[in-house]
Amino acid sequence: MRSIAVINQKGGVGKTTTAVNLSAALAAEGQSVCLIDLDPQAHASLHLGWLPQESPTVDSTLPTGSYGTIYDVLVGNARLKDVACEVRPNLTLIPAHLDLAAAETELAGEVGREMILRQQLLHYTSRFDYLIIDCPPSLGVLTINALVAVREVFLPMQPQFLALHGMSKMLGTLELVARRLNPGLQLTGVVFCMHQSGTRLASEITRDVTEFFSAVDDPRCPWARARVFNARIRRNIRLAEAPSHGQTIFEYARSSNGADDYRMLAHEVIATSEGRFAARRSAGTRPAIR
Ligand code: ADP
Ligand code: MG
Repeated sequence: MRSIAVINQKGGVGKTTTAVNLSAALAAEGQSVCLIDLDPQAHASLHLGWLPQESPTVDSTLPTGSYGTIYDVLVGNARLKDVACEVRPNLTLIPAHLDLAAAETELAGEVGREMILRQQLLHYTSRFDYLIIDCPPSLGVLTINALVAVREVFLPMQPQFLALHGMSKMLGTLELVARRLNPGLQLTGVVFCMHQSGTRLASEITRDVTEFFSAVDDPRCPWARARVFNARIRRNIRLAEAPSHGQTIFEYARSSNGADDYRMLAHEVIATSEGRFAARRSAGTRPAIR
């Protein structure tokens, strides 16, 4: 099983859109996928039309079925299998709810709080081909739980000015987790989201990010083998509209650019098994990382 955390401490870069639509694309390819919503904003759960059963607005045509959420798992009130909900064929969701925001403070004094998700997964995930975790826009205990529980990190990024700004903190966290808690952890690649091809800015940022990751000398570094995925997720209004309908892009607009791009990303992910991206050592100046 491949396990992937979708992280970036910036909000609005395309983490949830990628986690949901990549999961759906992999499921459509016959892969068995478990998506964990680890963000208190619960956007991935909403995107898939999941609503908590006690909600008065619940629509019986939408997938429901579990009462609990990832919060209950993290605080020890439930196991993953109790809260899992098969929302689509081949796609199981571990949902989140706003109450997950309390977990950060509730777990603050707990010994081994970074390991909770990993331990819960030991008993759960073997039947899946892919485990994908949608992380919150922070580097707190929730994101650390994800980084301890997975082997791979995907980093969605917008090709914008200052795209690399703030990356050093995130990469520092990745390195620390890899050194102390999860030695196998690696950054597999960057997914460019909301890409506007043909613009000079997009190609400059793409070049900078590619060069930054090519210039790593230490093979033990968790991003030594990272690369930029060839699939670029273009800016596409359909991708922004789909969540409010509780639908994936393949349900909402299956012929859109957004659907094509996430299909392409899924093919690329499937074609390249874990850690098999060639480490590229092309010469080049190392762009500043701030
Ligand atoms: P994050 O999870 O990193 O906060 P989201 O995936 O929620 O980011 O994306 C932020 C906003 O941008 C959302 O409203 C989403 O629908 C929209 N969005 C994401 N990707 C695209 C895209 N490729 N084209 C247009 N809108 C997008
Ligand atoms: Mg999100």
